[in-house]
Amino acid sequence: MNTDSATTEAVWTAVFCFFLLAHWGVKVWLASRQIRHVAAHQETVPAAFAHTIDLAAHQKAAQYTIAKTRLGLLSTSSSTAILLGWTLLGGLHALNHALVQLMGHGLWQQLALLGGFVLIGALLELPLSWYATFRVEERFGFNKMTLGLWVTDGIKGALVGAVLGLPIAALVLWLMEAAGPAWWLWAWLAWTGFNLLLLLVYPTWIAPLFNQFKPLDDESLKTRVQALMQRCGFQARGLFVMDGSKRSAHANAYFTGLGPAKRVVFFDTLLSQLKPNELDAVLAHELGHFKHKHVLKRMVALFGLSLLGLAVLGLLAGQSWFYTGLGVQPNMAGANSALALILFLSATPLVTFFITPLMSLSSRAHEFEADAYAVSQTNGQDLANALLKLYQDNANTLTPDPLFVKFYYSHPPANERLARLVPSHA
Ligand SMILES: [Zn+2]
Repeated sequence: MNTDSATTEAVWTAVFCFFLLAHWGVKVWLASRQIRHVAAHQETVPAAFAHTIDLAAHQKAAQYTIAKTRLGLLSTSSSTAILLGWTLLGGLHALNHALVQLMGHGLWQQLALLGGFVLIGALLELPLSWYATFRVEERFGFNKMTLGLWVTDGIKGALVGAVLGLPIAALVLWLMEAAGPAWWLWAWLAWTGFNLLLLLVYPTWIAPLFNQFKPLDDESLKTRVQALMQRCGFQARGLFVMDGSKRSAHANAYFTGLGPAKRVVFFDTLLSQLKPNELDAVLAHELGHFKHKHVLKRMVALFGLSLLGLAVLGLLAGQSWFYTGLGVQPNMAGANSALALILFLSATPLVTFFITPLMSLSSRAHEFEADAYAVSQTNGQDLANALLKLYQDNANTLTPDPLFVKFYYSHPPANERLARLVPSHA
């Protein structure tokens, strides 16, 4: 190696270490702020909610938020350590080396490396995932899952991931080898097509593997919902109730699917908590997202970002310092596509993390737009009542740290949201 590329390699390692540390440091700093802020405000219910939320509920929300944020701290630190283990400490290099010894070079070895990396990563995350469900969620009365269901979910998830993931991974790896210098454009087309296909088949083929979906059979509710959808000019294939209570007491409603496969799904937990008027308002909010094309905008942004990312990878994948700077010796005899993909996908979030506040800001703006639409179609007070119930049932804190909100919150906190719906909350 000449001095020039040795310097590039050292700079590359330094940039990686800088982002690894900065990403970890900012996350820890924000989480600590959130924990301190919530703890400092847990003794009094904010004035605007004094008549609607009692002290016990407020304190439960505070404790739950703190417990979840602490777990987040642990998970940030462990994933930072794991990433360091894969890269500079030589984990990925060792795995690649072992698989080359075992299988030789070729597409199968590349696929095994990618699959092995994903599988080992998932296994390393299991303890924290178990703790989140059976310790944190359990302690606050939200977990409805048995250990058996958790294990079957994990196995089913891995099988679905393998059935869907391995073919697209093989296609991308093959394109990286065979499609010439513009492989990244072809890979992007394949990736985008795959995602659109997923959206199409998810509601009908994949989601039912994990939950039961029954057509909504409450006739009066059905009539209301259909009237509302007609008023808003919305077409959907069907209205379904999902057995969300099988896993968690948290409530939700959502739209899923694409084009003709679009459907509305209510969690059974939502139906049991909200009055009909409130349910209308929540549904109108979801319709607002469609009216304003939020889903489409978000998809276009994500596809645009992935095109940019693949183009950058197209430049990096051919440089040997890209691998050696991150602790991996590239294969001299065979392909390095899987290594390039793994390193790139592991390192990118360290950088994109810093645009999180922009994504959150745009998402919160979308929530306000959807709320405004719901008010125009239904009733602001109904939506406010529904949101208050949901914030309370999900034990969302009413007093988050303002900076934490700016950075992460995809939905405006209760006080900001309700202030726009009901003037007395301002
Ligand atoms: Zn929304």
